[in-house]
Amino acid sequence: MRQSKFFMPTLKEAPADAVAESHKLMIRGGYIRQVTAGVYAYLPLGYRVLRKAENIIEQEMDRINVPEMIMPHLLPATLWQESGRYKKYGAEMFKLKDRHGRESLLGPTHEETFTEIIAKNLKSYKQMPLALYQIQTKFRDENRPRFGLLRGREFVMLDGYSFAATRDQLDKQFDDQKNAYKRIFKRAGVTVHPVIADSGTMGGKNSTEFQAPAAIGEDTIATNEKGTYAANLEMAKSIDTFKQEPEDAKELTKVATPDCDTIEKLAKFLNVPTTRIVKSILYIADDQKVLVLIRGDKQINEVKLGHVLDADEVREATAEELKEITGSEKGGVGPVKADWADKIVADETVKNLYNVVVGANETDYQFQNANLDRDFKVDEFADLRTANEGEPDPVDHLPLKFTTSIEVGHIFKLGTYYTTTMGADFLDQNGKAQPVIMGSYGIGVTRMLSAAVEQHLTEHGVAWPKEIAPFAIHIIQMKINNDEQTALAEKLEKDLSAKYDVLYDDRKERPGVKFNDADLVGAPIRITIGRKAADGIVEVKRPTDEKATEISVDKLDEFVN
Ligand code: ATP
Ligand code: MG
Ligand code: MG
Ligand code: MG
Repeated sequence: MRQSKFFMPTLKEAPADAVAESHKLMIRGGYIRQVTAGVYAYLPLGYRVLRKAENIIEQEMDRINVPEMIMPHLLPATLWQESGRYKKYGAEMFKLKDRHGRESLLGPTHEETFTEIIAKNLKSYKQMPLALYQIQTKFRDENRPRFGLLRGREFVMLDGYSFAATRDQLDKQFDDQKNAYKRIFKRAGVTVHPVIADSGTMGGKNSTEFQAPAAIGEDTIATNEKGTYAANLEMAKSIDTFKQEPEDAKELTKVATPDCDTIEKLAKFLNVPTTRIVKSILYIADDQKVLVLIRGDKQINEVKLGHVLDADEVREATAEELKEITGSEKGGVGPVKADWADKIVADETVKNLYNVVVGANETDYQFQNANLDRDFKVDEFADLRTANEGEPDPVDHLPLKFTTSIEVGHIFKLGTYYTTTMGADFLDQNGKAQPVIMGSYGIGVTRMLSAAVEQHLTEHGVAWPKEIAPFAIHIIQMKINNDEQTALAEKLEKDLSAKYDVLYDDRKERPGVKFNDADLVGAPIRITIGRKAADGIVEVKRPTDEKATEISVDKLDEFVN
């Protein structure tokens, strides 16, 4: 590719509103341009990087025998009404009406769409295990789109869905996906920590987030220096009640006795493993020590003491109702409604429970389905942080370090929520109808690119990881009207292009301009053709090298490989 023909509008200065380094780099380098808030055009350079990432994903999904397909963006509201998510999904959903007044939406995720196809087209256990995926633009009307591609309102996601006849099949599918995700991130040069992000009443290891440490990260993870331990410190930002399995939740519909002031005691009382105890403590009455747990399938009017509540129900509950639930004057749900905000109890019991439940240093005890500032006060959480930083992790007993990080992927064992609500049954070996068991898997592809930049910044630009670099080799000709330089540059361009993606800077620009732009392109290898072209000598440099090295063109192969 000749740079004179390549559309790469670079800028000296980043726009004033850009905060994240990756955002600045992508704007300055002419990778992307904002069209409207959280919505971007991918210019040729940005699109090349995106395509490379998609290519890696396609290869790794092929490798685990998961076929690619594509779903529509425009979806009927009816699909989401079936699952019950049309209302519950909330303000992040882009809704619209067609000319006949029919309600539609732009897909923020595709559990319903895939479940529907499976409901209609999969009949027998013999067709499973099966998994499918797509790489597709998603729409979410984020409250605060920001940081460039990190939080867009329109972004590219890899989303996959698995369908199984048995739990064992699901477990295997989940592991396959997890391993494929690890390979994808590794090849894309993004360092990630898979963090158990246990969701609600499911308990156990049902959901894993892939967290990429970065300065701009909106999440916080706790790691040790050896990388043998990682946990999500921050509470989940979204309420994933729909990703829980009602079946499992039912077992927890018991009353916690006043003696259950630790998770261990409660688990014993309920006769379930500690890992099954919900991470969503919305309420602890200090006089009764009652845990109110979240589940997705009960109405507020059925609620009794210790009953398991849906997060939304809790949010809508009145003070009177909550009093009835808990039988306590003093207690309350965390700041669900403004006037409840100051009623949260912060006695020793609560603190102990925080330590037990949240325990950033306990693999299975990350908070989920609870929001900082909404369910708990900030200063309580701050205490917890300081209490845990530097403390030994439970694996190798090394001091914990807290790092901000970016959620680049999230994988879930969904169970049968969607398939039961949407009627996706299959016939088992005995000819009995059973709900299909699902998993869902997602990577924010465009977010992952920002994470890659965040992790590979250089002084003046970026050092793209090899497999997602827009170009593998950048040839820079210092003087465009020098015949020897032109001859050598054109020869190298021709030879190297057979094997690599080559960008050849044939522009009539000053060397300073060319080098500045090259820093922004961030190709793993830069070859500069200058004064010694006639002797067959060029300069080579990797973005992370401090200085360029002179090398004879015959030796170039060794350097390039
Ligand atoms: P977040 O907590 O950052 O809002 P999420 O938990 O809502 O993300 P998921 O529903 O788990 O996101 O979607 C799967 C993946 O899609 C996420 O792990 C993330 O990488 C990506 N993603 C989600 N929202 C956005 C967004 N607004 N812009 C870019 N990527 C996103
Ligand atoms: Mg999240
Ligand atoms: Mg979100
Ligand atoms: Mg998530």
